[in-house]
This record gives sequence, structure tokens and C-alpha cells, in this order.
Amino acid sequence: MKFHRFFIVIVALAFLTDNLSAQNDSPSKEKIPSRGYAVMEPGWKFIPHDFERRAVGDEDVLIEILYSGICHTDLHQAASDWFQNVYPMIPGHEIVGRVKQVGKKVRNFEVGDYAGVGCMVDNTCNTCTTCKEHEEQYCQKTIFTYGSKDVDGTVTMGGYANNIVVTERFVVKIPPNAPLEKTAPLLCAGITTYSPLRYNKVKQGDKVGVAGFGGLGLMAVQYAVAMGADVTIFDPVESKRETAEKMGAVKFVNVRNAEEFEGLQDTFYIILSTIPVAYDVAQYLNMLQKGGSLVILGIPSNKDAPSISINQLSKRRKIYGSLIGGVKETQEMLDYSVKHNIYPEVEVIPIQKLDEAFQNLAEGKAPFRYVIDMRTLDFLEEKKP
Ligand code: NDP
Ligand code: ZN
Repeated sequence: MKFHRFFIVIVALAFLTDNLSAQNDSPSKEKIPSRGYAVMEPGWKFIPHDFERRAVGDEDVLIEILYSGICHTDLHQAASDWFQNVYPMIPGHEIVGRVKQVGKKVRNFEVGDYAGVGCMVDNTCNTCTTCKEHEEQYCQKTIFTYGSKDVDGTVTMGGYANNIVVTERFVVKIPPNAPLEKTAPLLCAGITTYSPLRYNKVKQGDKVGVAGFGGLGLMAVQYAVAMGADVTIFDPVESKRETAEKMGAVKFVNVRNAEEFEGLQDTFYIILSTIPVAYDVAQYLNMLQKGGSLVILGIPSNKDAPSISINQLSKRRKIYGSLIGGVKETQEMLDYSVKHNIYPEVEVIPIQKLDEAFQNLAEGKAPFRYVIDMRTLDFLEEKKP
């Protein structure tokens, strides 16, 4: 009789354990209800938007989003500055959150881990040369965080939302003790500037220029200074001169004052341009040393696209673009940022202030980076009747 009872307890425990592990290992194939802020047409009039994410597949991670940075790219994309986008669109590709569910083949993440997602969420290739070289951002089959065709045929929605489903390969680990709200912008602004500095093997004493001292520029300056470079900043906002000094730049050039450019011809090993509007590219090419590189990071709208004067290239100067960075390098950048205490300056805002934040960004009145506190989205929903 005693044995019989013992047997029942064992069977019940086994059943319970099996069920619990089924919940963890075999997530439901149901679509995930999601909530975010979307634009319904070109511009930045955001409205709350309910939608569904694809079901969590075996290799996927479901992340509850805690913070989302606002990148100038989000503004270009919301406005269809580069090409006609699909609406509704939920931007956001600087995402930090907590893992809520993992597929049964996920090995590197557990429920409760802090995780980061940048501009990419999936890739159906993983075999081409760029993928093998860990530069998935240049693979034709990469699925970007929003406005891209997802594996299930729907259009991806970004990080101005309460959750996101991402293939494990495109999720990075947030190092312990990293301040979450300041870590979000590293997922785009950080990696986009870290990557070309590493690609060019920037080292002690190299002369580096950073054109545009906003979200990307602030990161570029800090990385270049940490690598030992002599950094000069180019920006139109005089009040940023003080921050430039604080960040360790050797010089700040207010681009509105022509005389501040004097003596800079043939100076720089590399200049990173993060300028998001029309500007004189020849002016920057002219300041490169023989063989120096102008790396184009900022992508002005089509109507503001700058023209290039090939005359200025004669000293073996190079001009080329660079797009974010691969997942492996993103993890490296995160670890480097934490080790060297390199973070953006952020202003945390509630999601209800999106329209205002975009307007400020468009008018050059924004802080270095706005970051949305995604808990304000839940708050809004609780207020619903
Ligand atoms: P921000 O608006 O935060 O920063 C841009 C900075 O450039 C601002 O400080 C702005 O000043 C300054 N600026 C404007 N005009 C000039 C000028 N003529 N000369 C020098 N500086 C100027 O934008 P982000 O840093 O978020 O993004 C910058 C660009 O990079 C965008 O075009 C974005 O789309 C692109 N980007 C590209 C990526 C890539 O992978 N290649 C990734 C992420 C972003 P003010 O505030 O006064 O306007
Ligand atoms: Zn970005």
C-alpha cells in the first residue's frame, strides 16, 4: 500500500516535471501578441498599434523589451527618406530587454537573461563569404529589425514595442552591471562607429576626424580616444565644444566658422562622417592624409544626397561606406564598452513623447540620444478602459 502511494507520487512528480520542462523547451507555436507605437504613413505621427509577432521557433528567443534607443535612421525610415517604406512601421533597432521564452534548440540564453538586439533579427543564409566572415550585415539574405520581410512572410516590426522574437544567432549578451538604458544605443550607434575604427586598425597617435557629433559621433569619439587616437570633431553646435573636450578630443571645429578649418588639409588618417544632411564632401576629402579614408556612416535623405568631387581623391584617398557591424563584433564592442566605461549620454523618455522626440531630432534640438523606457507602454495600456 505504502509502495503504491509512493509510486503515485513519483508518477505525479514526473508528469509535473515533464510539463514544466515542456513549457521551457517546447514553446507554443502560437503567434505572440505585441504592442508598439507605429507610424501609418511617412512622417512621425506615432499611434499605439497592436500586432502579432511570429511564433517562437526552435532557435528563437522572445525578449521583453525594456529600453529602445532612437537612432537618426529611425527618422529617415519613418519619413521614407531613402525609399518608399511599408506602413504601419514600428521603428527601433537599439533594443535591450529580458529573455521571456526560448526555443528548444537555444543554447546561449535562458529565461531571465538580459539580451540585446540591433539592426538584424535573422538571416536565411549563414553560408556565404560575408556570413562566414561574421559580417552578416552585408549578406543579401539578412532580415533587418524592421521593414524587412520576415521568415514567415510578414514585415518585421522594430523595438518601439513591448517584445520581439529574434533568432538566437542575432541576440547578444548584455554584460553584467551594464546600465541598461545606456547600453541600448550601443546596439547601433556603438557598433556602427566601433566597426570602421577596428577595420582601419586605429592606434595610438592616429589622427581621426569625426564629422557630426550626435548619437553616432559621441560614440566614435570615445572609442577613438580609447584606442589612443588624436580626435578632432566637426559639428555645427557650439554648445557641444565643452562635451568635446570632456570626451578627450584634441580639437572641436564649429563647421559654421570657415576659419576653424584652416591648417587641417592633409591631416587625417581617417574621418568618420555621421552627417545626416547635405554637406560638402570635398571639404572632408581634402583634410585626409595621402592614402587616408573617408568613411561614410551618415546617410542623408535622397533629396539631400551630397555629390562627390573625384578631384580630391588623387592622393590615393579613399571614400567608402560602412554599415553597422556583424553580431560577433557587436558582442566584442559591448564587452569593450563595458571594460572602458564607454556609454552614450542619454535622455530617457516615455513612449508617449515619440512625436516630440522625432521633431527635436529633425530640428537638431535633440540630446545625444533619446532612449524610450518601454515600461511606459504598459502604463499606457493599463489606463485603457
Ligand atoms: P544625430 O542626429 O544624433 O547626429 C547627427 C549630428 O550631425 C548632429 O550632431 C548634427 O547637428 C550634426 N550635423 C548636422 N549637419 C552637420 C554638418 N553640416 N556638419 C557636421 N555635423 C553636422 O544622428 P545619428 O548619429 O543617430 O545618425 C547619423 C547618421 O548616421 C544618420 O544619417 C543615420 O541614418 C546614419 N546611420 C548610419 C548607420 C550605418 O550603419 N551606416 C547606422 C546608424 C545611423 P544638429 O544636431 O545640429 O543637427
Ligand atoms: Zn541606427
